[in-house]
Amino acid sequence: MRTHYCGELSAALVGQQVTLAGWAHRRRDHGGVIFIDLRDREGLAQVVCDPDRKEAFAVAERVRSEYVLKIVGKVRRRPEGTANPDLRSGEVEVLAQEVEVLNPSAPPPFQLDEENLNENTRLEHRVLDLRRAPMQKNLRLRYRVAMAVRQYLDEHGFIDIETPMLTRSTPEGARDYLVPSRVHPGEFFALPQSPQLFKQMLMVAGFDRYYQIVKCFRDEDLRADRQPEFTQIDVETSFLGEREIQDLMEGLIRAVFRNVLGEELPDPFPRLSYADAMARYGSDKPDLRIPLELTELTDLMKSTDFKVFRQAADLPGGRVAALRVSIDLSRKEIDDYGGFVANYGAKGLAYIKVNPDGLQSPIVKFLSKEILDEVLKRTAAKPGDLIFFGADRAKVVNDALGALRVRIGHDKGLLRKGWQPLWVLDFPMFEWDEDEKRWAAMHHPFTAPKDGHEDLLSSDPARALSKGYDMVLNGWELGGGSVRIHRAEVQAKVFRALGISEDEARAKFGFLLDNLQYGAPPHGGIAFGLDRLVAMMAGVDSIRDVIAFPKTQRAQDLLVRAPSPVDEKQLRELGLRLREKPKS
Ligand code: ASP
Repeated sequence: MRTHYCGELSAALVGQQVTLAGWAHRRRDHGGVIFIDLRDREGLAQVVCDPDRKEAFAVAERVRSEYVLKIVGKVRRRPEGTANPDLRSGEVEVLAQEVEVLNPSAPPPFQLDEENLNENTRLEHRVLDLRRAPMQKNLRLRYRVAMAVRQYLDEHGFIDIETPMLTRSTPEGARDYLVPSRVHPGEFFALPQSPQLFKQMLMVAGFDRYYQIVKCFRDEDLRADRQPEFTQIDVETSFLGEREIQDLMEGLIRAVFRNVLGEELPDPFPRLSYADAMARYGSDKPDLRIPLELTELTDLMKSTDFKVFRQAADLPGGRVAALRVSIDLSRKEIDDYGGFVANYGAKGLAYIKVNPDGLQSPIVKFLSKEILDEVLKRTAAKPGDLIFFGADRAKVVNDALGALRVRIGHDKGLLRKGWQPLWVLDFPMFEWDEDEKRWAAMHHPFTAPKDGHEDLLSSDPARALSKGYDMVLNGWELGGGSVRIHRAEVQAKVFRALGISEDEARAKFGFLLDNLQYGAPPHGGIAFGLDRLVAMMAGVDSIRDVIAFPKTQRAQDLLVRAPSPVDEKQLRELGLRLREKPKS
């Protein structure tokens, strides 16, 4: 129906007749002349309706917001001084010859160019929300990212293979979404938390290089910016080691940034061991844009009489660390940060102010001159600096000072510009689950131990390191993966270390264990979170802004109103009876 997109009109078309089709974004009646900003996916065009053209003018008078219009007219230059440099088509306008209403619109619930719309309103009226320019831009960016991913992986010999959505529970550690089976009453499918085991089996099947841009489902508490269904760029390859997989995968992310944003990321990405990341940043996903680091003091504080520090230093798994900042903070700010770290379990936030005329702090009197000198030396503190301390179990210190580092970085505008990717490597195989009182897999139970660490699985699980790796970008975990276990007997050892009995392992993962026996090749891979990647590239905070039809924080789709109650008949067919009546 159209000859041109609205947003594509330019001075090059002056004098030509064009036909446009789109939505009435705004209509302004300037006493005698009607202006319609016509919108399509490429942008806006200004249409002028002159009373001289009686028929067209009469139609234009009836036009309201979001009417669908077809307009035939002549492109002309806007009068001197009225060009709009913010619009691609801002130098020109279209003098309407014919105006046709293809479809009227009910009054929209909000003005499309309204800013600061309430998110629930947006999600309830998602279709109209998606018409807005920022959402059009975000979803097109998402598409370009996905295309760049496919192109790179295709060029590197990966093939896209689909894996089932109706499957068994997989072990990414979240709650499953279950689907009842009608054919097998009382039995359930699980929606995949990831295609982990299928991609491993595709390696055993000899496909060598697999990828998929794929939905994953995790029924998690949605406090953070998470979605019950989200998209991964899921990759697996055979016959490559840790470093080679990482090189290939950072090449992917570099290609995506280059092709989509025209940005060059470092080559190679910096690498940091998990232990170093925790020691220096208190986090396994450090934001390297923030030029602040923790200083280790545990060894030093083993010789102080100051109880708070001494006890933490002597505690097995305890830590004393400092965070120096070269900023003058007010008493109130320091108190606020004390409240902030309490959220991470810290019982207090000791500090020393380094003044030109000496040290100022409630704790100086408890620390000897030797210790204070050493603290100043290790932190390289200068007059005007402030040193914060954390002393507790290492987890509390890391969480608290790690978060404080990020918080101060943001509060004080310390962030360097640009993209700071890195690899975090050499993760421990296991972490202690305090609630369950047993070891849990840090990545997932199919992650291979480092060469030479196999015996530690049983003798000293805390010290066993894995061939797991995470890619981190600006403080976000962009992707995680590992070299996998490809030998059934090693897999059995890991299950044993995790307290998974042979019977349970057979019952849950028998199909994997069986297949590992038939010549499974060495293999490994990674999965990236596509939603987060695109959100970062789009410069938006919420992944909901780069997903066409997302769920709310309460895991509901406000557009189609899901989840929803179902008919008694459907339940009966599935052999189900409800224990609780739905509230809605
Ligand atoms: N399946 C893993 C996850 O979803 C990623 C991987 O190990 O490839 O976290």
